[in-house]
Amino acid sequence: MEKVKRKRTWEKAHREELCLRARQYRREHPEKAREQHRQYYLWHSEAVKEYMRRYRMAHPDKVKATCAKSNAKYFYNMRQKAISLLGGKCAMCGYDKDPRAFQIDHINGGGNAERRYFNSSTSCYKNIFATEGKGYQLLCANCNQIKEIERRELLRIIE
Ligand SMILES: [Zn+2]
Repeated sequence: MEKVKRKRTWEKAHREELCLRARQYRREHPEKAREQHRQYYLWHSEAVKEYMRRYRMAHPDKVKATCAKSNAKYFYNMRQKAISLLGGKCAMCGYDKDPRAFQIDHINGGGNAERRYFNSSTSCYKNIFATEGKGYQLLCANCNQIKEIERRELLRIIE
C-alpha cells in the first residue's frame, strides 16, 4: 500500500515528463496506441461517453468546427472519387486543369428531378458510385452552361 502511495506521489511530481513520454510513445507506435485506446474504450465505454457528452456541452463551437471540417473532407473525397470515376476531364472539350471547374452532368437530363428525389448530394454521389457512373458525365462549367442554354433553346423551338 505504501509502495502504491509513493508511486502516485512520484507520478504527480513528474506529471509533465510522463505526459511528454506518453505522447512520444503514441507518436512512435501509432498502431499500439490505437489498440490501447480501443481496449480502454471497451472497458470504460460509459465513462468515455459521459466525458464526451460533457465535452460537447462545454465546447459546442469546437465540436461544430471539428464536424464541419470532417464533413468538408468527406465531401471533398467523395467528389474526387466521382471525378476520377468519370474520367477526370470535360467530356465535351477535354478540359482537365482545375477540378473545381468540373460539374457532374446527367447525360439525358433529369438532374433537378434526381436531386429532389435523393434529397441530398451525398445520395447523388452514392448513386453515381452504385451505377459506376453510367448516365453521368463530367463537364466543365463552360460546357455545362452551353449545354443547358442549347437545351432551353431547343425546348423553345419545339414549343
Ligand atoms: Zn468543357
